[in-house]
Amino acid sequence: MSDRKLHPETLALHAGWRADPATGAVAPPIYQTTSYQFESTQHAADLFALRQLGNIYTRIGNPTIDILEQRLAALEGGAAALAVASGQAASAFAIQNLARAGDNIVSSTDLYGGTWNLFANTLRDQGIEVRFVDPEDPQAFARATDARTRAYYAETLPNPKLTVFPIAEVAEIGRKAGVPLIVDNTAAPLLARPLEHGAAIVVYSTTKYIGGHGTSIGGVIIDGGNFDWTAHPERSPTLNTPDASYHGAVWAEAAKPLGPIAYILRARTVLLRDLGAALSPFNAFQILQGVETLPLRITRHSENATAVAKTLSQTPGVTRVIHPSLQTGVQRERADRYLSGGYGGLVGFELAGGREAGRAFIDGLKLFYHVANIGDARSLAIHPASTTHSQLSAEEQRATGVSDGYVRLSIGLEHIDDILADLTQALAAAR
Ligand code: PLP
Repeated sequence: MSDRKLHPETLALHAGWRADPATGAVAPPIYQTTSYQFESTQHAADLFALRQLGNIYTRIGNPTIDILEQRLAALEGGAAALAVASGQAASAFAIQNLARAGDNIVSSTDLYGGTWNLFANTLRDQGIEVRFVDPEDPQAFARATDARTRAYYAETLPNPKLTVFPIAEVAEIGRKAGVPLIVDNTAAPLLARPLEHGAAIVVYSTTKYIGGHGTSIGGVIIDGGNFDWTAHPERSPTLNTPDASYHGAVWAEAAKPLGPIAYILRARTVLLRDLGAALSPFNAFQILQGVETLPLRITRHSENATAVAKTLSQTPGVTRVIHPSLQTGVQRERADRYLSGGYGGLVGFELAGGREAGRAFIDGLKLFYHVANIGDARSLAIHPASTTHSQLSAEEQRATGVSDGYVRLSIGLEHIDDILADLTQALAAAR
C-alpha cells in the first residue's frame, strides 16, 4: 500500500493486517490461545521489561485483539488503542488510569446510565470524586477544576438529549490547565472525530455501532498521542511518578522510545494486567468483522434515522422528536461542526399519551426489537420510563429528558419503507 493517507472506508478493511505470515490467510485468524512460547530466556526477559513489545499472555495482549486495536486507532487518528471486555471497562479504565483515591474528574451530566452509576457510586466508593457539570456551559468545567482534577469526561452525542458536546471548547480549557478530555464517542463513530478537536482520549463501547450486529460485548480506549503528559507533571502523577507496581517505571519517560503512548501503555501494563477486563479473541474477531462495514453502515443508520425523525415530527400524537437533524440554533451549529456524514442512528420521541401510550407503542412493534441496546444492524426500541428510568422522580425526568411518554429508537439498516411501516402501525396501536 502507498503512504498516501487512506480513507476510513479503506482503513476499516486494511489497517493493522495484511495476511497471516504463517498461512497467508487473508481474514484475521482468531488466535485462541492464552499464552505464547518465548524464543529464549533473553526474549522473555526483554518482553517483561518492555525492551521489546510482544505477546506474553492474552490477558494483556493477543494478536487478534492487536489487529482490532491497530484498526480502531488508525480509524480514529490516534497513536494506539487498548481493547477491553466492555464499554464499561473502557470508561472505568480511562479514568482509573489517571485518577486515584483523593483525586477528582469533571464530567458532563449527560451520560449513558451505566456510566452515570459508575461515576456517581462506584468510583466515589473508590475515592474518586466525579463533579458533574452542565455541558451547555463549557466554562463550568473550568470552575469545577482544582489541583486534584485529573480529567474531563463527556459523550459526543449523549442520549436521550442527543445534543452534541462542545468538544473543542472544553478540550481547550483542559489543555490550558493540563487536564485531558476523555470523550465517549460510542454513538457517533466516524461521524465525529474528537481527537481532531482537541480531545486526548476516545472511548467506545464497541458493542454498539463498531461491532454493529448485536453479537459481542467489547470496549476500546484510544490514546490520541496528542497530549503532553509532561507539560504539567503534577496533573498526571500516575504517568509522571515512579510506579511501584512496575519496577518504579515513570510511564511518561519509559514510553518515550515507543512513541506518544504513555497513557495507553500504562492502561495495558497496569490496569489490564491487574484488573483483568480482557476482551476475548473471538469477540475481537466479531468486532473486526463489524468494523469492515462500519463506514457503510453508519451512513445508512444516519440516513434512515433522519427519515424517521422527519416522519415522526409530522405525526399527530407525537409531541416532541429528538434527533440532531431537527435541532436549531446553537445545538444545530454544534451538530454541524462536530458531526459530518450524518447525524447518527438514535432518535427519541415523546407520545402525548404518556406512559400508557409508550407501553402500547412498544408492545405494538413487529419489526423493531424491544431491547436495552443500541447500534445493532436491526432496529431497536425501548420505553425508558418502564425500564431503565422507571425510578426517576419528576425532577430527574426533567434533568434527563426522559418523560413518561418518551421512547428511544435505534434505527437499523432495514429498508426505510419497512421501518416507517412498523412505526406507523405501532403508533396507531398506541393511540
Ligand atoms: N457508553 C455508551 C454511550 C453506551 O451506550 C454504553 C452501553 O450502552 C456504554 C458506554 C457501555 O458499554 P457496554 O455495554 O459495552 O459495557
